Amino acid sequence: MALIVQKYGGTSMGSPERIREVAKRIAHYHSQGHQLIVVPSAMSGETNRLLGLAKQLNAEPDGRELDVIAATGEQVSVGLLALAIQNLGIKAKSYTGWQVKVLTDSAFTKARILSIDDKNIRKDLAEGNVVVVAGFQGIDEHGNITTLGRGGSDTTGVAMAAALKADECQIFTDVDGVYTTDPRVVPSARKLDQITFEEMFELASQGSKVLQIRSVEFAGKYKVKLRVLSSFTEFDSQDRGTLITYEEDENMEQAIISGIAFNRDEAKLTVAGVPDRPGIAFSILGPIAEANIDIDVIIQNTSFEGLTDFSFTVHRNDYAKALAILNDKVKPLINARSVAGDNKIAKISLVGIGMRSHVGIAAKMFETLAHENVNIQMISTSEIKTSVVVDEKYMELAVRALHTAFELDKVPV
Ligand code: ADP
Ligand code: ASP
Ligand code: MG
Repeated sequence: MALIVQKYGGTSMGSPERIREVAKRIAHYHSQGHQLIVVPSAMSGETNRLLGLAKQLNAEPDGRELDVIAATGEQVSVGLLALAIQNLGIKAKSYTGWQVKVLTDSAFTKARILSIDDKNIRKDLAEGNVVVVAGFQGIDEHGNITTLGRGGSDTTGVAMAAALKADECQIFTDVDGVYTTDPRVVPSARKLDQITFEEMFELASQGSKVLQIRSVEFAGKYKVKLRVLSSFTEFDSQDRGTLITYEEDENMEQAIISGIAFNRDEAKLTVAGVPDRPGIAFSILGPIAEANIDIDVIIQNTSFEGLTDFSFTVHRNDYAKALAILNDKVKPLINARSVAGDNKIAKISLVGIGMRSHVGIAAKMFETLAHENVNIQMISTSEIKTSVVVDEKYMELAVRALHTAFELDKVPV
């Protein structure tokens, strides 16, 4: 008998029929003698609908109220799923985040989990219940409802597994594992049986939304056994999906590149004609950081006649705010020539631990993009990742070309 946490995403919970299917799958695991904590997301489209309602009433909605609204999606899901499980003759009990309680900080719309009280859950499990806990939500020390950021039910699942020292955390979604890239963009993408934690972490942080980045972070910190599986296939107790591993074992595929991530969530800002002197980067990025805006890729050109250009990317949601700061504060302060912005960019990242020991990956990436006539606007690298920023309209073309060039559709030998 094992203690398993299962998280079911929005599409898995998308309709009463789908919820019935999820309940049947849970019943299979239950009949094998496992103890189960189940973490559902809101029904697909529901969180968008709720946030859309909020925006209709206030273009700049207050985070505290947004969380009150958004958290209702998962509250409905836990109740419905508990009913569906009970309908199969199995005891089930639902909890919202604050009933559990999942204590978070007070960063509304992107709160972090601080602790989870497992007392009631353990008692319910011991009494033979399937415990159904709402994903994506918690409560802060002042009693405010909080949410964990889009895709945050993954993090609830993993955090729950860490807190209860579960044997495994299973993320059920609409694909049967982690692929070499999003199979919706590259149909020849290949499912990986295993992926190292480090690679999964990079893929998630570079935009592969199959797992929320914070869930991977949590899994790494507490060494949670984490697996991604499909809820759309027939139940099969042998189904292994994709396992996130913490050690590189010899039997693992020896690919240099494991996957390609991409995202359209960023925007680029450029301050041109900047006097090239000490403190200039701080003068530009200081006010951006003060406004709580995260910065991703940064480039500064070598100077020409004492002047240089400085570009960086931010999340698209922060684009207008960042542009205003540059125009109103930074430009007059440092006497820059001009400020420009582009929110139609995409970032594409190659990820693989093989990059540590192989040279020429970046060159091959740039050659492939050149061959497709895709202009590279920015480049950033880390130990196991190379990213480029390109015009959004070339993103899919570029991802497909890179997938083929690095032979990701083939099993590595
Ligand atoms: P859920 O609602 O179950 O949380 P998400 O939509 O958040 O599901 O995540 C699953 C989706 O992630 C898949 O449908 C797929 O389109 C996308 N995805 C992006 N990159 C990958 C990848 N490398 N492997 C598998 N799926 C990926
Ligand atoms: N329902 C939330 C969202 O759509 C959380 C999740 O699905 O993981 O972002
Ligand atoms: Mg998700």
